Amino acid sequence: MRVSDTVAAARAGDRRAVARLLTAVENRTADAPAIAAAVARGADEAPPAGRPSVSATVVGVTGSPGVGKSTLVSALIGAWREAGLRVAVLAVDPSSPFSGGAILGDRVRMADHALDEGVYIRSVATRGHLGGLTATAGGAVRLLEGLGFDVVLVETVGVGQAEVEIAGLADTTLLLIAPGMGDAIQAVKAGVVEIADVYVVNKADRPGADSAVRDLRAMMSLVKREPGEWRQPICKTVAQDGGGVDELVDAIAKHRDWLSDADRLAAKRRDRAAAEIRATVDAELRRRYAVPAALAAEVAEGRTDVAAAARRVLGDAPD
Ligand code: GDP
Repeated sequence: MRVSDTVAAARAGDRRAVARLLTAVENRTADAPAIAAAVARGADEAPPAGRPSVSATVVGVTGSPGVGKSTLVSALIGAWREAGLRVAVLAVDPSSPFSGGAILGDRVRMADHALDEGVYIRSVATRGHLGGLTATAGGAVRLLEGLGFDVVLVETVGVGQAEVEIAGLADTTLLLIAPGMGDAIQAVKAGVVEIADVYVVNKADRPGADSAVRDLRAMMSLVKREPGEWRQPICKTVAQDGGGVDELVDAIAKHRDWLSDADRLAAKRRDRAAAEIRATVDAELRRRYAVPAALAAEVAEGRTDVAAAARRVLGDAPD
């Protein structure tokens, strides 16, 4: 493929071109560096016509299965499209080895936007990928941003570690909970509460929504904050009929404004890039320095100590 032609087509809204570029970046093919270079924009460059800013707003959506993530994502897409923004969704499935297909993209709710050229939805598999979610999805996010998407939504099907990783990828992380699911408590346990920037109590049409809001407030009151630090807002939504979605869009924009102040956004993205590099280095080291079974047996049987064994793996001189 001619990289520059494919990039031009993708920027003009050709979704097959977007898909081709994403596949190359995810699989780190020989074209990947040229693609990254072709879409990179200088930080001081003016945003393209019609776009509010050079960089996209990267929004992570986390929450237990069934809480209403895809329904809300679909509603959010609708709101941003009304505002004339281009939206990309990466639906991350850490348990699946299949990428590129429409495992999640095909889900009925997402199909609302299937014919809209301003929307691109893709599932990203991370199992078996070198460096896992962080290393795989980071490049995909930057590519979509470089292709002119104004909002990149990263939604995960997983819970726990995947959610924490998603938060590392996103500028603004939403944590969805639903009334009566005990989600608030689960989220505290999984460490997800600390990484969220906006709390969303979805299914606010159900009984118990206000007490879920109270639980969250009570939890937040325990967290000590420095002056000027972001205070997570709590939004109530009814994803099914779009209730509260405009307020949520506002909350996301406010967080983005807060991040844009004082170099916070750039610092966050540098941290993210460092984490990606680290994950890739880790994976590469594991690939290069395999642990021989015989050495593992020596350590298991107490004949060699772990630090000495590690040095042997790395090829250092023994003590
Ligand atoms: P996900 O697994 O987190 O992606 O959740 P889904 O978006 O698939 O939603 C799970 C179920 O909850 C579906 O049957 C939705 O129709 C329903 N649902 C989503 N949002 C709402 C809401 O605001 N109120 C109610 N009552 N149901 C909702």
